[in-house]
Amino acid sequence: MSLWRSIYASGKLRGLMKTELYHREPYAVEFSAKVTEAGDDWIVLDQTLFYPGGGGQEHDKGSINGIKVKEVLKENSRIVHKVPGHMLREGDVVKGEISWKRRYELMKGHTGEHMLFSSLKRFNEELELVKISISEDKKYLIVKGDVDWDMALKAQEQILGWIADDLEITEQIVSKEDPLLDEIRIKRERISDNEIRVIKIGDVDASACSGIHVKSTSEVEFLIISRINSARPEGDWEIEFMTGNAAKKEAAERSAQFMKLVLLTGAQKGNVVSTVENLKISKEQADAALKQYMDSSLKSIQSVEIGGVPAYIGSFPELDKKMCADYVNEAVKEKCVCIIGSGSGRYSLTIACSPDIQIDCAKILNEVLAEDGGRGGGKPNFASGGASGGCGASKAVERATKILQMYLTKNE
Ligand SMILES: [Zn+2]
Repeated sequence: MSLWRSIYASGKLRGLMKTELYHREPYAVEFSAKVTEAGDDWIVLDQTLFYPGGGGQEHDKGSINGIKVKEVLKENSRIVHKVPGHMLREGDVVKGEISWKRRYELMKGHTGEHMLFSSLKRFNEELELVKISISEDKKYLIVKGDVDWDMALKAQEQILGWIADDLEITEQIVSKEDPLLDEIRIKRERISDNEIRVIKIGDVDASACSGIHVKSTSEVEFLIISRINSARPEGDWEIEFMTGNAAKKEAAERSAQFMKLVLLTGAQKGNVVSTVENLKISKEQADAALKQYMDSSLKSIQSVEIGGVPAYIGSFPELDKKMCADYVNEAVKEKCVCIIGSGSGRYSLTIACSPDIQIDCAKILNEVLAEDGGRGGGKPNFASGGASGGCGASKAVERATKILQMYLTKNE
């Protein structure tokens, strides 16, 4: 007989605890109970399997006498079932049924959350638990303190070990003054009851919790950390995780992605990470070299005079958009016009001038691009756009130069 059972049998439990059938029989799906209070759209029962929510775990769903239970909540030490449309009266005997599949998912998730925090704390003793949220769609905890993926993956590995070890999960009810509480995870300020439920997972974790848990870690089946996001206030982290079937599915998807990566990189299974790291370094080096090349190419443009205005005209096989914009913006600080093209098949074109030159760059740009079925946009003194195919960048630059020549000579 577990300790809480012995306490219950000895009659020490207060009224509310007798009604908490979900704690006494966490695996029961159906129950009978007597209505002790009945309001317009709510009832209170002498015992219930409907968990009213708490400890981050959502309240149960299901039906009473076939009527859908909309909400369950603890109010003034009573468990109130919102059952709109009921015709029940005090003294009526009812049959209730909880949505078991959902509840069992929440029990697995809740047990997984205990293991997750306990394991994370082993890798960072400073970690504090801020919030727990266990619902069907999303399971997460918010912690204060440093967390990274390296640490999270180590925790995940440890938890999978605990699941494989099939650790027993036990419950004890102790008084608020029990010295045992000094050795476990507890937020005393959040507890108003005199009796406190202590949940132990093998000898790896013990914490105070009002939620409902599975009786063995193997029932959690699998646990995967799916996301780590920074949370508010700064320094907090939201750690999202999955348990049960959802976790297995996620693991299978990740494994498929990994195998695609093996094929794509041509690396051995054990070398994928170092291969990708090397590719990343090569890419960075290539980007830096290209940037240097583009920079010197732009700097090598010699100005020519068109209608008395200096013009910087050039066409390049490859040019970074931002570098091109930076170059042009810098150039037009002095009186000049710029016509810069880039790309071969698909090309882009930028036309810009200093504010003291009265031409419409956007108009010239669209005149050029229209011939190749392309489009562009911008303002009278800065416009850019592109076309796929057509004559290519160097021809487009030539055409733009001719049109510009026409406008500038006309203005003279
Ligand atoms: Zn719990």
